[in-house]
Amino acid sequence: MTTVNAPGVPGISDGELISTNPATGELAGRFPVADAEAVGRAVGRAREAADWWAGLGFTGRRGRLLRWRALLANRITELAALSHLETGKPIADAVVEAVSAIDHLDWAARNAKRVLGPRRMRSRLVVAEFSARLEYRPLGVVGMIAPWNYPVLTPLGAFGYALAAGNAVVLKPSEYTPAVGQWLVDTFAEVVPEQPVLQAVHGLGDVGAALCRSGVDKIAFTGSTRTAKKVMAACAENLTPLVVEAGGKDAVIVDDDADLDAAAEACVWGALTNAGQTCIGIERAYVTAPVYDAFVDKVVTRAGRLTVGPDGTDLGPITMPDQISTIRRHIEDAVARGGRAVLGGVDAVQPPYVHPTVLVDVPEDADAVREETFGPTLTITRVADVDEALTRTNAVRYGLGGAVFGRRRATEIAARMRSGMTAINSTLTFVGMPTLPFGGVGDSGFGRIHGADGLREFARSKAVTRRR
Ligand code: NAD
Repeated sequence: MTTVNAPGVPGISDGELISTNPATGELAGRFPVADAEAVGRAVGRAREAADWWAGLGFTGRRGRLLRWRALLANRITELAALSHLETGKPIADAVVEAVSAIDHLDWAARNAKRVLGPRRMRSRLVVAEFSARLEYRPLGVVGMIAPWNYPVLTPLGAFGYALAAGNAVVLKPSEYTPAVGQWLVDTFAEVVPEQPVLQAVHGLGDVGAALCRSGVDKIAFTGSTRTAKKVMAACAENLTPLVVEAGGKDAVIVDDDADLDAAAEACVWGALTNAGQTCIGIERAYVTAPVYDAFVDKVVTRAGRLTVGPDGTDLGPITMPDQISTIRRHIEDAVARGGRAVLGGVDAVQPPYVHPTVLVDVPEDADAVREETFGPTLTITRVADVDEALTRTNAVRYGLGGAVFGRRRATEIAARMRSGMTAINSTLTFVGMPTLPFGGVGDSGFGRIHGADGLREFARSKAVTRRR
């Protein structure tokens, strides 16, 4: 066993990035660290590969992407085991994540031609008739910068679409999960050995910054809002376009007429899956007064049954050790300002684990309500009615996803929620539906991945008109 830093903290030694399990310190892998020149060389190789890949056309790419899909499905146990080793997440969760990622790849491969293929149309311009041809061409080389929390679904849910659209991709995996990123690249090379259509460059944030400045045709960034601003500034230097999938502070609204058992069940899952390290994780609940007490009881009962620890439990460790201090600070601050922990609390923070924590009576301006906690915590707030719930829900600067539980007013509440995606009577479900665009508003980012919008995000339109 080799560790350079504390378990789970990426270390750099002799030019290698060393990745370890956050609970045990077991080695997950060592990877050469790139510098700006190495990033430039990878982008240069990708540019040549991009021409070849684009030249295969939709049908040629579809065949290869579906072969990769089959390989991923056949080796899903191996992939999940590696993801478990590197992130600590339960193997069952790693399998579910990989299944969802494979679904996205499958959809992108099968639908790219339908969405992006050339089409003819007629157009009028006052005095004359025109025929027109519209097509979506690949951008060229896409640089993809990824986080650690869903190291399979997040990159694949973006670069699956970028590849299907005909681009080559240079991936900068999170420094916390380079082994999973490299595994994806290596298995792609098994089915597409001809050219380096998908490559990885490893290292800390400076490698991501070098990728932003490398002259790629687009950056697809997924990560924190703080880093997104740096990425955007670096991209501005060359006017490199970008899509930003950033942080969240998603809420559920529970109306009087909700099925409370279903709402509590879904809310607990939405808040605590992946130990709360989920961009669309539920971190706040606003519950109308008549059902508030019953809802709190049901959530606490269910969340209290969950087990925390090594594999075989419901919640694994916090993958990024630094995140634990943010979670602790949010809980301490909430309690210091009058909040009550009805489950867990400050003592629930037992590195590398954090036990489920449910907070009530937390003031609305506390960080636990306004800032992304990214841990297994949930605030529950009593509201007079759904108007108050919506005002509070929409008061944060993030706007990624969210959920509504209720019957009569659910559709109206969902429409008024300021978010890119809202689920009615379930939580998080939209991320697993490849037909739907994924992305947020405000500090949660801009642009869309997944679905037809996701394919178009990685293509540029070209219109040609002909006068008749
Ligand atoms: P992070 O912002 O710390 O890092 C993300 C990536 O950016 C890493 O690969 C990192 O090395 C790189 N990076 C760091 N500094 C950089 C710089 N200056 N220039 C270019 N790249 C740089 O985020 P994280 O801790 O890895 O991930 C957690 C965050 O990601 C949370 O905020 C979570 O909500 C968000 N997230 C969002 C989505 C979404 O789809 N909206 C999905 C997953 C995670």
